[in-house]
Amino acid sequence: MIKENYREKSYWLTTRDYQEDAPLEGDIRVDVAIVGGGFTGLTTAHFLKKAEPSLNVALLESQVIGFGASGRNGGFNMTLFGLTMGITALRFGRAKAREAHLYMERAVDTLKALVEENSIDCDYEHPGFLRVATSPQYARRIRHEIELAHELGLGGIEWIDQDAVREQVNSPTYLGAWSEPRCGLINPAKLSWGWKGVIKGQGVAVYERSPVISMSKTGSNRVILTTPNGRVDAAKVVLATNAYSHLVPGIKWKQVPIWTHIVLTEPLTQKQLEPIGWKNRQGVEDARNLVHYYRLTADNRLLMGGRDISFAYGYNMDKDINESVFKGLKKDVAQIFPSLADVRYTHQWGGPVSVTTDLTPAMGYLGSKNVIYSVGCMGHGVSLTHLNGATAADLALEKKTDLTDTFFVNRRVFPWPPEPLRMVASKAILAAMHVQDKLCD
Ligand SMILES: Cc1cc2nc3c(=O)[nH]c(=O)nc-3n(C[C@H](O)[C@H](O)[C@H](O)COP(=O)(O)OP(=O)(O)OC[C@H]3O[C@@H](n4cnc5c(N)ncnc54)[C@H](O)[C@@H]3O)c2cc1C
Repeated sequence: MIKENYREKSYWLTTRDYQEDAPLEGDIRVDVAIVGGGFTGLTTAHFLKKAEPSLNVALLESQVIGFGASGRNGGFNMTLFGLTMGITALRFGRAKAREAHLYMERAVDTLKALVEENSIDCDYEHPGFLRVATSPQYARRIRHEIELAHELGLGGIEWIDQDAVREQVNSPTYLGAWSEPRCGLINPAKLSWGWKGVIKGQGVAVYERSPVISMSKTGSNRVILTTPNGRVDAAKVVLATNAYSHLVPGIKWKQVPIWTHIVLTEPLTQKQLEPIGWKNRQGVEDARNLVHYYRLTADNRLLMGGRDISFAYGYNMDKDINESVFKGLKKDVAQIFPSLADVRYTHQWGGPVSVTTDLTPAMGYLGSKNVIYSVGCMGHGVSLTHLNGATAADLALEKKTDLTDTFFVNRRVFPWPPEPLRMVASKAILAAMHVQDKLCD
């Protein structure tokens, strides 16, 4: 196993001391084994122990908790599902687009409540969200989405005009915005590591630097997982491996990893922030397919992410660094906020998100009811994974609930083709997104 230096993987992963738990050595027998120490795995463990405190639960993470997307993301606790509400409505129908949004509202509220209930120190703030229109075409795109939301009977989102948005965050590029109070911002590494403390307090055994290298079933319908120095005999397994799931036999065609990238400035001074305003500190995205997402950190650094994405061929997961995207993001900061043209950058990183062929999440049973998986959170999994943890726990406990009845649970997922077709298909989808964006920019 390559022991990765997780501190290099994002700024967030440098913002707190961290004590690793020991790897698995030897054999253990558990009720539920969870593979993957991101938000999905951590919250599944939490909800399992909350429902049945006597359950014997172990969580195995190949590197450290928060090593994947959960320790590297932009930190938006937001309602966006899949790519857009319009695309979800086209693919699944309007009723399901409504269901998805309501699930996401509940997910945002769940994350906020969990942070409060468990006193997790993750710099949580709840400043709301602006999806800004940077051209008349994007203004039309946003207004269509808001109309659709209203037609579906969804509230909490309104259009604000150019003056109103610039009064909040002053960029010469803004022509108006989707404004939505239901959005929080977190420090994702602090949240991941805070979760580890919570679940260990509940009695979950956490093993780090313990990659699961094989999974097989026994005659008595138990599942055997092996790690380099150990073996787990489990009644149930939850595969919370998200963007790494193409490396897991059985779910390898359900998703592909796609990398999104971030640059981070030094802390902005009051003088630098003054022309921008941003007193309410909202999270901001634009309306491109290949979005920009940006926010302030607790110490007033500007985090700017998105713009373009990276693919990897086959099993390669080494795409965190993309100098041309980093360069482009810095140029974008200067364009969006001209007063920051000379700002200094301290960090840049990337991480993989999980993408299904229809850009929609998918979770459920893998064949029999003793293996559960979750994939496809895209770049909008911070809130989603927290509610998915509750859904995965219900699935593991074989409870039928409103969560397990959600349309993306146990749905059919169209498989990604094998390489080289997978790369051709990914590039074709990306090219179509680029063309659409170019027409709107
Ligand atoms: C740069 C970036 C920015 C983002 N910004 C946002 C945002 O602002 N808002 C938002 O909602 N979403 C955002 N996302 C997406 C969000 O972070 C993810 O959807 C979410 O964190 C996924 O959580 P997870 O637990 O499912 O997966 P992960 O956090 O990726 O966890 C999976 C874990 O499984 C482990 N693992 C994999 N294989 C094995 C194995 N065989 N054995 C043991 N362990 C294994 C990995 O090491 C990893 O730690 C962003 C993602 C990235 C990369």
